[in-house]
Amino acid sequence: MEKIQMSTPLVEMDGDEMTRVIWKIIKDELICPFIDLKTEYYDLGLKHRNETDDQVTIDSANATKKYGVAVKCATITPNAARVEEYGLKEMWKSPNGTIRAMLDGTVFRTPIHVKGIDPCVKNWKKPITIARHAYGDVYKNTEMKIPGPGKAELVFTAEDGTVTRQTIFDFDCPGVVQGQYNLVPSIRSFARSSFRFALEQKKDLWFATKDTISKKYDHTFKDIFQEIYDTEFKEQFEKAGITYFYTLIDDAVARVMKSEGGFIWACKNYDGDVMSDMLSSACGSLAMMTSVLVSPEGIYEYEAAHGTVQRHYYKYLKGEETSTNSVATIFAWTGALRKRGELDKIPALQNFADALEKATLETIESGHMTKDLALITELEDVTVLNTEQFIKAIRERLTALLEQA
Ligand code: NAP
Ligand code: MG
Repeated sequence: MEKIQMSTPLVEMDGDEMTRVIWKIIKDELICPFIDLKTEYYDLGLKHRNETDDQVTIDSANATKKYGVAVKCATITPNAARVEEYGLKEMWKSPNGTIRAMLDGTVFRTPIHVKGIDPCVKNWKKPITIARHAYGDVYKNTEMKIPGPGKAELVFTAEDGTVTRQTIFDFDCPGVVQGQYNLVPSIRSFARSSFRFALEQKKDLWFATKDTISKKYDHTFKDIFQEIYDTEFKEQFEKAGITYFYTLIDDAVARVMKSEGGFIWACKNYDGDVMSDMLSSACGSLAMMTSVLVSPEGIYEYEAAHGTVQRHYYKYLKGEETSTNSVATIFAWTGALRKRGELDKIPALQNFADALEKATLETIESGHMTKDLALITELEDVTVLNTEQFIKAIRERLTALLEQA
């Protein structure tokens, strides 16, 4: 079989621990035998981030802006323990945070549905995608413990020196206060990325906040979404036969539970954090969840939703057998290859991505899976495979599928 040719390189961001191990096996077994793979490679492994004073993360984000599509391996976000473990010069920032900030993107997470591993919410027939605003709110808060009686105020000093002041609370006992913010341009980008993604996927878009209680903060989100919808997307949505639907966050949660899925749910930062964990556990496992960062200009960075699977890596280092699920990382590659094919008009790349996803799902549906899935599947006659065996089983199926085609 002749290898598929690419015209533009993918930005390849390598990562850490068990996912770095999987990354290489996926490339060797599932990508490079079939595609004449062109990538611009950036090593975001923690050791190399430290050596380059994290410049490599910035370079990889700039390359993503240049080429438009990246695929990223999971990476360690350093904490105190990692600083010691890797002898770090500094507690480097989260690469995902850096890349998100540079691309000004929104993260879309979708569970991968497969027969035999059914969502525990029985009426969810189609996947629900969560679009999480990845900037500000409680993640950029300033908070204070109030030691005892006194007045807490909200003060804004404009550039010209004008001061606006509001009392938050007159405390007569100890308490806590918190200040948070967001930026109009960031909310606008969030709205645009969400509308764009819904159009591309031809799925309805839901958005929800607590605007009845938060009449300025959350209401601003609601107003911005409505304005951008009315002025930029309404016509296109109508043409595509999809809808934009706004409701209160508590109403949205109730409706999501009763729905059959198949829509995109835009969430403020905290809601998206919490709801995506609910969604992924209801659908089986973090390893069955795709994640893509989309910038408002249409730049895409694909990754797995889970971390570097540290516990499995330490077993791997000791020479013990691991059974790490590579599905989300495989789907990061297929997402990126499909998008590259679409942008460069190379249908063979798109077809390959479809075939690799099909081979992956069929492998699981045939009862061959990693341990995390074996524990929750309704299928009988299950064979538990180790990390490498699972990828090799997918390769066999993929080869057969491609030969048939
Ligand atoms: P994790 O890598 O998501 O793994 C947590 C647990 O979930 C694992 O121990 C494993 O459970 C299960 N799991 C996750 N992915 C799995 C897979 N593919 N196959 C099978 N089981 C899987 O989270 P962590 O171990 O808490 O974090 C490790 C590192 O990842 C941290 O340094 C963190 O900073 C980083 N992280 C990176 C990203 C990212 O780059 N996007 C996201 C989150 C975390 P069992 O041990 O029970 O088998
Ligand atoms: Mg979370």
